[in-house]
Amino acid sequence: MRRSYKFLLRPTVGQAIALTACLNDHRALYNAALEHRRTAYAKAGVSVRYGEQSADLKHIRAADAGGQGRWSFSSQQATLRRLDRAFAAFFARLKAGRTPGFPRFKGTGRFDTVEWPRDGDGCRWDSQPEHPSAAYVRLQGVGHVRVHRHRPVRGVVKTISVKREGFRWHVIVSCDAVPAEALPATGAAVGIDLRVASLVATSHGGLLDNPRYLAASADRIASAQRALARRKRGSTRRRKQVARIAALHAKVRRRRLDGAHKAALALVGGYDVIVCEDLRITNMTRRAASRPDGEGGYLPSGAAAKSGLNRSILDAGWGVFLTILSHKAESAGRELIAVNPANTSRTCACCGHCAKENRRTQAEFACTACGHSAHADVNAAINILRAGLALREAAEAA
Ligand SMILES: [Zn+2]
Repeated sequence: MRRSYKFLLRPTVGQAIALTACLNDHRALYNAALEHRRTAYAKAGVSVRYGEQSADLKHIRAADAGGQGRWSFSSQQATLRRLDRAFAAFFARLKAGRTPGFPRFKGTGRFDTVEWPRDGDGCRWDSQPEHPSAAYVRLQGVGHVRVHRHRPVRGVVKTISVKREGFRWHVIVSCDAVPAEALPATGAAVGIDLRVASLVATSHGGLLDNPRYLAASADRIASAQRALARRKRGSTRRRKQVARIAALHAKVRRRRLDGAHKAALALVGGYDVIVCEDLRITNMTRRAASRPDGEGGYLPSGAAAKSGLNRSILDAGWGVFLTILSHKAESAGRELIAVNPANTSRTCACCGHCAKENRRTQAEFACTACGHSAHADVNAAINILRAGLALREAAEAA
C-alpha cells in the first residue's frame, strides 16, 4: 500500500530563509525553462524536450554555484519534469480538439512545492536517527530541519516534498509498502448518506461531523476580504492582508480535513462493512446549464439556487472525505461498497414506497403511504445500507 504523511516543519529562522530561497530558485528555474520552450517554439517552431533542459541544467548549476548550484540536482529535475507534464497535458488537450490555456509563468504564491524524487538523493528522511526525541529531515542547501512528526511513518520512504502554506512549511513523505493495520471484526454494517449540512448521516441515526466550518468562518473571511478592498495596490498592508486571508482559508481546510479524518476513523473503527453513495461529485457541482426556451431567451435553470448548493457541497468536502474513508477502510481491512444513490432519498425505508412527496423538506421524511417519518438523511442512509448489502449478497451468490 502506498500512502503519504504530512507533517509540520519547524525550521529555524535561518532555515526558513533558506527554504524560501530554495522555493524561489525552483520557481525561477521553472519560469526560465518555460521561457526557453516558448521562444524556441515561437521563433523556430521547435519543441524543447525534457532531456535537453535537464542537460542544460548542468551548465546552469556550474555557472551559478552560489544560486541554483546550491540545491539538489534531482529536485531541480523534478521541477523540469513538472513543466514537462504541464506541456504534455497542454498538447493532449489540444489534440483532443479543446482550447487549453498555454502553461503559465508562476508568480510568487503560485509555486509552493519542491519535490525530491528519491529519499537519500539531496534529501534524507529521519536524518538524525540518534536524536532521542525529535525527528529531522535533511534538505540539501537547507540543513537538518526539525519535523513535528505527530504519528509514526511506516513503510519505505520514496519521495519527499516541502510545501509552503501561508506562513507554515510542511513536509510530505510518500511511502511504499506500508503495512495494513487490520482492525478486529465488529460484525456490524453501516450505510452513510453524504449530507450538505453536516458531513454524513448514518443508518443508525447518527450525524457525524461538521458544523460547516467554512460557513462558521465565512463571516471572518468576508470581512477580511472587505478590508482587503480598502488597501492600496502594491502596499505592504495589502500584502499582509492577502496573507491573512490565505491563512484563514488554510485554517478552514485544516479543520475540514481533521473533521473528515475523525468521521472516517469512527466509521472504520465501528463497522466491518460501510456502504456509501457512488457519487460523482463533479456532476453535482457542475454549473447548471441554461436551456433555450425556443423564443430566443432562456428558461430559468435554477443556476442561482444550484450555485448556493454547490458551495455547500464543496464546503462539506465529500470528495476529500470519501478519499480518506477509502484509504482508512483499505488499511483496516474493511469493506467499502459504493451504490447508486438514485431514489435513496425519496424511498421509504419502512415500506419501500417511492415518491417525491415523501421528502417534505431537506431534513424531513414522511411516507405518504405508511406514515413512517424520520430524518430524511437517516432514511436515505438506511436505503443505502440495504442496497449495499443486496449488492454484496448478489456478488457472493454469483
Ligand atoms: Zn412507507
